[in-house]
Amino acid sequence: MSHVFPRHTKSNLPVAVGGDGCYLIDDQGQRYLDCGDAAVSCLGHSNPAVIEAVQRQVEQIAFAHTGFMTSEPAEALADLLVEHAPDGLDRVYFVSGGSEATEAAMKLARQYFLEIGQPERRRVIARRQSYHGNTLGALSAGGNEWRRAQFAPMLIEMTHIAPCFEYAEKPDAESSFDYGQRVANELEAEILRLGPETVMAFMAEPVVGATLGAVPAVEGYFQRIRQICDQYGVLLILDEVMCGMGRTGHLFACDRDGIAPDILCIAKGLGAGYQPIGAMMCTAKIYDAIRDGSGFFQHGHTYIGHPVATAAALAVVTELTTRALPARAGVMGDKLQEALQAEFGQHPNVGDIRGRGLFRGLELVADRETKTPFDPAHGVAGKIKKIALAEGLICYPMSGTRDGRVGDHVLLAPPFIIEDAQIDELVGKLSRAISTSIPG
Ligand code: PMP
Repeated sequence: MSHVFPRHTKSNLPVAVGGDGCYLIDDQGQRYLDCGDAAVSCLGHSNPAVIEAVQRQVEQIAFAHTGFMTSEPAEALADLLVEHAPDGLDRVYFVSGGSEATEAAMKLARQYFLEIGQPERRRVIARRQSYHGNTLGALSAGGNEWRRAQFAPMLIEMTHIAPCFEYAEKPDAESSFDYGQRVANELEAEILRLGPETVMAFMAEPVVGATLGAVPAVEGYFQRIRQICDQYGVLLILDEVMCGMGRTGHLFACDRDGIAPDILCIAKGLGAGYQPIGAMMCTAKIYDAIRDGSGFFQHGHTYIGHPVATAAALAVVTELTTRALPARAGVMGDKLQEALQAEFGQHPNVGDIRGRGLFRGLELVADRETKTPFDPAHGVAGKIKKIALAEGLICYPMSGTRDGRVGDHVLLAPPFIIEDAQIDELVGKLSRAISTSIPG
């Protein structure tokens, strides 16, 4: 019996004992192509530069509390991130993961408005069918009904506008651009409804990950969102915890949309799984208001700026930037999209194949014409996950709730070092898992 809590399944899980590039290896010697694990593994599992950086740092100094001391890797990592970040993001606050980053972002926004004498600004607007983490503040911002349901009485009141989900929600008669502008304008309507003087931030994922399955916004959407935030003095928080750090073909996903946020959250690919780490980046405007006001950000966790975690991330970001791995994710992502189109483009139960770079999603439907989802009782996503694992493929199938309507999708996020042969392996294994899981 396992004493590890929680067990996600009643059956025995494989025990991971090794990693080799794109593969995880269990104690029976079975190899699993790792195209899921929540989009963490961007460099694969045995990167010598990151392993060496971690070992060296543990030997030098494992921990020094940031209340008293900074560390060389934390400083160097912040410099490197700022060098490559979108314009204006020039301060970095390290945390231990994604939820901590989004929580910190909302608290930073709140403190900023207190410092500049606008204490009424306290409301966050986010989007339906989004995910920003599992701590109570992050869960309040997220729009995933299933994850929120049990904890609803404990959540902070935040409001949610429509996501930008072209496949499911754009009427045929409307152009993509007009659709994007219309749903972006929901932000303006919501700000006006709440009263602009009460709204502090809008939070969104540039490419929606876990909840929808690699859904980018249409062209022009985020530009309009940026304009609206500027017009009403609302801070734009972009959550790139899953889609950032090169996964979409750009080091920062918002680079593709041609906008920069006021606050940016990253995690997952930042540590590439070698250490738990996340970060929140912000503009000088926000940082200076706090520095010149009360003097410090009233927040903090014990492990912020952890030397071993920042040393690992420094090696990861150095690998990403010096080996141009985001560009490689773009090229291999196009190949993956082509291979998925070839295999599933005519499949009666695959309604949409989408995404950017090595961040791809397949929408599974009972009827392709009407886009009708499967009856949740079939548990299609859960079956695919199980069968794919038995086949030696780790991917991320999910059931999502869309305004009371359930749908299934598969999220694919392979390491950026994936080769052509492994793309074929991925598509072949996924195809077998999907055909075995589809009802009837
Ligand atoms: N934001 C997004 C967009 C995520 O995908 C996730 C994790 N799936 C989180 C926040 C939370 O990150 P963590 O699980 O590291 O707390």
